[in-house]
Amino acid sequence: MSDSKPLVVITGASSGIGAATAKLFSKAGYPLLLLARRKEPMEALGLPNALCRAVDVLDLESFKSALEEAEAQYGKVDCLVNNAGVMLNGDPASQDVAEWQKMLDVNLRGLLNGIHLVLGDMVAREGGSIVNIGSIAGRKTFAKHAVYCGTKFAVHAITENIREEVSGKNVRLINIAPGMVETDLVNHTTDAEAKDGWWDYAKEIGGALQPETIAQSIVFAYQMPQSVCVRELLVCPTRQEP
Ligand code: NDP
Repeated sequence: MSDSKPLVVITGASSGIGAATAKLFSKAGYPLLLLARRKEPMEALGLPNALCRAVDVLDLESFKSALEEAEAQYGKVDCLVNNAGVMLNGDPASQDVAEWQKMLDVNLRGLLNGIHLVLGDMVAREGGSIVNIGSIAGRKTFAKHAVYCGTKFAVHAITENIREEVSGKNVRLINIAPGMVETDLVNHTTDAEAKDGWWDYAKEIGGALQPETIAQSIVFAYQMPQSVCVRELLVCPTRQEP
């Protein structure tokens, strides 16, 4: 055990919000397990006491092995940040079905895999926090976002439902729901109109949030005393209208 602070696990730590959150937790002295399919960008962060593992959140076995390896080194997971996600906007009638399948898989099955792997132990220990990354798209609908919104509405429902079920065991389920954040997220969208429209609107409102702002929100919510549960934070650029 190299640090008195407990282990924080972050999925999707190879870019955007996940990478910014890894840096902020590290600055605050937490040992980390960083997970994403690409290992190099996580290692390139150069953070101390940070185990970086190439894990697809859909692969339950490798997800579990990485957790066991990190817990052997740093003690039990006190915080899981379920951040890995994809947004492939488009029209469900014409979109390649593989695209919406991917969103359903990563945004929901991946998130549930994480919960499945840590929740039982947190309940047994009567402590711990799971931070799920929802979205403004988990509260409102947007053009060409139907499937993505569906996954994020589900993240909000799953978070609140499980929170109610484990609150009596002193386990916190926290939903951090960002508005527009400047990351690679929308760049994977193959529908050019949907992708360009996102960036055009971000420009129109003077820019999207920086990922560091969401990282601050995550660390703030987690660092509240265990007796306080920040159930949900919806954090958007001030000029974002919808
Ligand atoms: P990025 O595209 O920058 O980051 C997404 C991360 O998810 C990457 O690290 C990626 O890593 C990882 N990831 C994707 N698929 C998998 C997988 N199968 N297994 C493991 N990791 C995976 O986008 P953001 O930082 O913006 O997104 C982070 C979260 O924030 C998402 O849940 C997103 O829905 C949410 N969000 C983002 C908003 C925005 O405007 N940017 C707004 C609201 C919510 P790799 O490719 O290496 O696997």
